[in-house]
Amino acid sequence: MVDFSIDSTFQVKLDWMKDFVENKVRPLEYIYDYDFDAPFDTSNVALRKIVVRLQNEVKAQGLWAAHLPPHLGGHGFGAVKLTYMNEMLGLSAFGSVIFGCQGPDTGNSEILAMFGTDEQKRTYLQPLLDGEIFSTFAMTEPQGGSDPTNLQCVARRDGDDWVITGDKWFSSNARNAAFIIVMAASDPEAPPYERATMFIIPRDAPGFEIVRDIGFWTDAPNSGGHPWIRFNDVRVPDSARLGPIGEGFKVAQSRLGGGRLHHAQRNIGLVKHLIDLMAERAVSRFSGGKPIASNQAVQHTIAQSYIEWTQYRLLVLYTAWLFDQQMEHGSEGRKMISAVKAAMAKIAEDVVVRAVHLHGSHGLSNIMRFGHYLASALHEGAADGVTELHLGLVSKLFLRDYTPRLDSNLPGETTFLKKAWAQEKLQPLLDELGLTFEDGRASIETDLPEEKYNLRKGSIGA
Ligand SMILES: Cc1cc2nc3c(=O)[nH]c(=O)nc-3n(C[C@H](O)[C@H](O)[C@H](O)COP(=O)(O)OP(=O)(O)OC[C@H]3O[C@@H](n4cnc5c(N)ncnc54)[C@H](O)[C@@H]3O)c2cc1C
Repeated sequence: MVDFSIDSTFQVKLDWMKDFVENKVRPLEYIYDYDFDAPFDTSNVALRKIVVRLQNEVKAQGLWAAHLPPHLGGHGFGAVKLTYMNEMLGLSAFGSVIFGCQGPDTGNSEILAMFGTDEQKRTYLQPLLDGEIFSTFAMTEPQGGSDPTNLQCVARRDGDDWVITGDKWFSSNARNAAFIIVMAASDPEAPPYERATMFIIPRDAPGFEIVRDIGFWTDAPNSGGHPWIRFNDVRVPDSARLGPIGEGFKVAQSRLGGGRLHHAQRNIGLVKHLIDLMAERAVSRFSGGKPIASNQAVQHTIAQSYIEWTQYRLLVLYTAWLFDQQMEHGSEGRKMISAVKAAMAKIAEDVVVRAVHLHGSHGLSNIMRFGHYLASALHEGAADGVTELHLGLVSKLFLRDYTPRLDSNLPGETTFLKKAWAQEKLQPLLDELGLTFEDGRASIETDLPEEKYNLRKGSIGA
């Protein structure tokens, strides 16, 4: 069944959300400085009051933490409906926090729910779900993020405790987090995917250090929400371990799929916003006495962007549907999550460059926010796994369904092979009708290739 309609009860929610995001959430980002991670900034008491007030409106509408299943206090909207919601939040850096669905807290709450002890759930999961605290997920290290089998941050067993030593890189929101989930090598000599274990480290643990704040290009030096952090022999009890020893990869894997989908859903909104800006510009800017939209090149740019956006949105909706069928961990689900991840980076990069270009000097100026959008678009290709790795995975899973033709140098679609195959297939039908191929002036292969080209019978046309 394919059905693109949206039920009327849910449409009412979407309409409320559209108005709320546009008129109460989006204004925040023009006033408050996201460089300093404003929505997460627990020290900004006044802003927190505004955020909490808006969060309460969302809660009253039953739209809080919409990604959560009912057993975690969510309303169980499912991933397809979440697509329609999250795309509205893609425009606003504040949106996810106000709706209780911001990364990395969403992924962290998932693994706390799946692997946490009762005590860990009480201490960390519940306040996280309630929006009272924030968290960090620290996996990437300064020497490289694409290969997490090469972790240098280690966890040594010392009596009943663990001692964590090492650096982590681009640890989003560590400055405002109440705790950090860190992936450390607990047995560096074990097989690569059995080396790591996850730990929950309170941010005020002795020995925890923020080496330096790091942000995007567009952030002021020494600002930004992705610090370089260090664990200087941070000692924690075994009760800080999240999941079994040596299963850090399994824990990490189980949080990544959902996070990538949520990101892709928000990216739909970001790209649509860029297309809206292009459209406004195209009909408003005049050159040679005509709107620039009257130029074919401009029309093509806009049409191309709109078509790509629609394709991308359908790709995300299909992948979300796979989540709703509990297929996200299967081969099709994993392939599509990586496909969506790669597609999100590509469309965001392509459209943002077109949008800047169409805005000319305004596009390149500091009175617009294209630098921010460009950084945001490019980050899609790095965070949560670089595009190359995702394309590689798509290809690997896609090619699994193909068997090599090792008995011939000829491609399976070679016309004379296909003719022989087609003859074989159609012969019974023609026999039934008392016809020959010649009767219908068919062009047939008389020189059967299995003999001439030494092909095994049965492989023809495979
Ligand atoms: C905004 C942002 C937020 C982030 N937040 C977090 C966070 O909260 N927690 C966290 O742990 N990490 C976080 N990261 C880090 C992110 O996960 C890494 O950037 C990512 O895994 C890539 O690692 P890297 O940056 O070290 O790039 P590298 O691994 O050095 O890769 C650089 C380039 O090398 C090439 N390359 C590398 N490996 C391969 C390969 N196998 N095949 C083909 N080409 C390859 C690609 O061209 C790639 O782009 C964040 C990153 C960004 C940008």
